[in-house]
Amino acid sequence: MSADFSRLGDEVRAVEKAGADVIHVDVMDGHFVPNITIGPLVVQGLRKLTSLPLDVHLMIENPKRYIEAFALAGADWITIHAETCPHLKTTIKKIRGLDVRPGVVLKPATSLKILHPVVEDLDLVLIMSVNPGFGGQSFIPATLKKIERLRKMVDQCHDPVEIEVDGGVKIENIKDVSAAGGDIFVVGTGIFKTENYEETIKRLREKIG
Ligand code: ZN
Repeated sequence: MSADFSRLGDEVRAVEKAGADVIHVDVMDGHFVPNITIGPLVVQGLRKLTSLPLDVHLMIENPKRYIEAFALAGADWITIHAETCPHLKTTIKKIRGLDVRPGVVLKPATSLKILHPVVEDLDLVLIMSVNPGFGGQSFIPATLKKIERLRKMVDQCHDPVEIEVDGGVKIENIKDVSAAGGDIFVVGTGIFKTENYEETIKRLREKIG
């Protein structure tokens, strides 16, 4: 969502060329969060532009209803918010059944406890380090302790569960997020507001060794 939407194709190609591993797509419905962004049609468009995995972050109410549409559009990963999904286990199963990697997202105020019944079923947990809804916000420092606790939780799991962190990640703090236990770093304005994407991604990688 931090890219220039009037030239989204160019932006996606540019970050792929610059060395990004994944394209993170923020889907907002104007209900779960006040903002509205994009839907399955744009994901379908992105699918044609890049061979990178499309990581679709559903900030929407009733995500179960739209999972199939996003899977068919070409999502490789789908993450759903625990706060808006009363039937987490069946929804995760549905995502996996469509051959998509399932993940659960937690807002900053949501406790890790909500993950206990489902963590073994997940490929990833997405920790929000800002309140969802808008780009360009500052990283909430208390997130680091939450990531540390989650690291301990997922290290007990039978299969690997990756920790993804979304919100305010940039060159200045990515090292701390990595040290706390993060595996995947969503960087929005931290890349798109810089002049040279390749140089920025190189510097981000250097920070996490
Ligand atoms: Zn996101």
